[in-house]
Amino acid sequence: MKTPVPDYLDEVLDSLRDDTSGANADYIPELAEADPEPFGMALTTTLGRTYAAGDADTEFSIQSISKPFAYAAAIIDRGLDRVLDAVGVEPSGEAFNELSLEGGTHRPKNPMINAGAITTHSLLVGAEAGQGDRVDRAVTFFSRLAGRDLRVDERVCASELASAHRNLALAYMLRTYGILDGDVPSVVEGYTRQCSILVSVRDLSVMAATLATGGIQPVTGERIMDPATARHVMAVMAAAGMYDAAGDWLTRVGIPAKSGVAGGIVGVLPDRVGIGTFSPRLDSHGNSQRGRRAFERLSRDMGMHLFASD
Ligand code: GLN
Repeated sequence: MKTPVPDYLDEVLDSLRDDTSGANADYIPELAEADPEPFGMALTTTLGRTYAAGDADTEFSIQSISKPFAYAAAIIDRGLDRVLDAVGVEPSGEAFNELSLEGGTHRPKNPMINAGAITTHSLLVGAEAGQGDRVDRAVTFFSRLAGRDLRVDERVCASELASAHRNLALAYMLRTYGILDGDVPSVVEGYTRQCSILVSVRDLSVMAATLATGGIQPVTGERIMDPATARHVMAVMAAAGMYDAAGDWLTRVGIPAKSGVAGGIVGVLPDRVGIGTFSPRLDSHGNSQRGRRAFERLSRDMGMHLFASD
């Protein structure tokens, strides 16, 4: 007899719970002090059915997982050509907080690293938009993707802003190259607010399932982006979502994905499923240790590798 999906997901979590290797992100005090033990996972199919296990409703800050979704919003707001003028689509092979600019154009190499994501955030809504407009756009867009009202965790945001020197430095460099317009501290603050939006793995799985369908939120039925935008975002996630571990992830797991420093990972299999995992301890690449292993299990056990022919 086949194991029902929820039992299988519980078994995956149980098999990895004693892995306490890695450590919480330490450069944002609120994250460093967070309970490292929660562990949850959720899958949402393109038909809108969600399977969840463990701490599936625990909220955590979305952090870098905001990047692919804000990128989709920027493409909707400004058009793909305008966004590509400012941010490339090449894997950087470097850590998330490296400057990683393309020679010649000085574009950040991709929107999944901080330099590219800060630039992407600055493009939201339109040229005249202020910080409040851009943050509202991110909160509203993510809420439509998740199918419920999301909010910013002001404590996490303040905690990160108190020591956001590196992101400010990246943004000032981009400003000198003319890649980023406007008031740098305000753009970085808006980007940090975007990273501080609270989600659960259940939310992440539904948000990812919306990419998997080609842009239709599978629970509400709302079309949120066109199929070309969803395809483009998934492709960039596959190429660059896991930073300097992107190639290892794509060969081993084979599921386009994006991680965040709070411990979340979102994954998407086109036409099939959206996946969210959460566990705060990170490996040396800044990806959730237990989350990575949960994805490896899913890929192997459920034949979820994008390039699997068996
Ligand atoms: N807000 C974080 C930062 O900019 C996001 C990084 C991450 O999740 N990898 O440093």
